[in-house]
Amino acid sequence: MSYIITILILLLLLLLVLYYLVREESRKSAKVHRSLVRGIDYALSNDFDKAIEEMLKVVNRYRELAEPYISLGNLYRAKGELENAIQIHEKVAANNRVPDSLRREAQYFLGVDYSRAGFYDRAVNIFRELSEKSGEDIRPLIELEKIYVELGDWEKAIEIRLKLMNLEKDSESLVKSGNLLAHYITEKSKELIASGKLDEAEDILKRALERAPNLVDTVLTYSDLLYRKGDYDALLPLFDGILDTAFDYHFLILDSMERIFSGSGEYEKYGELLEKKINSGNYSPQIYVAYCKFLRKKGEKEKASRMLKEFVSKFPYQVEAIQLLADILLEMGEEEEALEYYRKLSRLGLNDPRPFVCTSCGYRMEEMSWRCPKCGMWDSVKYMPVRAGS
Ligand SMILES: [Zn+2]
Repeated sequence: MSYIITILILLLLLLLVLYYLVREESRKSAKVHRSLVRGIDYALSNDFDKAIEEMLKVVNRYRELAEPYISLGNLYRAKGELENAIQIHEKVAANNRVPDSLRREAQYFLGVDYSRAGFYDRAVNIFRELSEKSGEDIRPLIELEKIYVELGDWEKAIEIRLKLMNLEKDSESLVKSGNLLAHYITEKSKELIASGKLDEAEDILKRALERAPNLVDTVLTYSDLLYRKGDYDALLPLFDGILDTAFDYHFLILDSMERIFSGSGEYEKYGELLEKKINSGNYSPQIYVAYCKFLRKKGEKEKASRMLKEFVSKFPYQVEAIQLLADILLEMGEEEEALEYYRKLSRLGLNDPRPFVCTSCGYRMEEMSWRCPKCGMWDSVKYMPVRAGS
């Protein structure tokens, strides 16, 4: 979605420049003038066929100008006709009579066409060359980064993000950049962990944590590493901290903690940490349910069911709590009561099998993902189960 908006904005900017350019040059040519205005209108309302039709009139009237061609190419790309877009932008980029700055512009858009068409090698060559020439213009670097992220080439994505950070001035975009960089480093470290290079992974993960100490992806990957190294003393404070800062991701953090601690001799400490959070009052429903699961596992079913009943009476829509309570009651032989809670569950309806939603584009998915597979945004996917058929 954001990519389409960016393209549209670029398109409009170019059209506006063109509009003024042509207006200056030919106040007489009212026809062309109208075509441009209409073209912009059509492009705005996503009617690319008509926008192209109008732009062709301008192109035919101003054969010597490169701008209308470049815009026409962009309209073709917006419409999804990548071959036409490539053909037109190639022509402008290779035309010696076109001024350098405009040829670079055409090259840039040619790179975008290649990239959208999946010709990544060609696109990379163009953007690499442009980024060396066009100092202040960060668009080629942004496009390069997109390609490397798409290809999962994290080393190169890191290289480009570092270059971009050198060009950024304001603190807000530096924070965003720091998060992106930490994500790329984390992805790289996951590869290293998978191939057994734990020390190397640790080195770069520490760098990522310096940039973004509260990034859940990075913290969880680091915790996985500490677990493999058996360093439980370092694990507890790590989880303690991230539970306080990342409420949106408690379901993930707690899953990870349960997995790590249940197989170790440190299970008690896990329970103590959860209990501490509950007593401090700074806890989520997930922490509460996780603590009751811990009690159940330890055999303290009486206490767990008492706590859950109290919780469910206060929060009657907490499906996970009701489910756990019903299961525990059944295990305790309280069949009548268990049945009552199972009925409650079925009245609430089933959960949508896709509990994860991108808060940027609205895409729903089954699995958690740090980068939305639909719109490419990082950290936009949240756990928001909805009940179907309720
Ligand atoms: Zn999205």
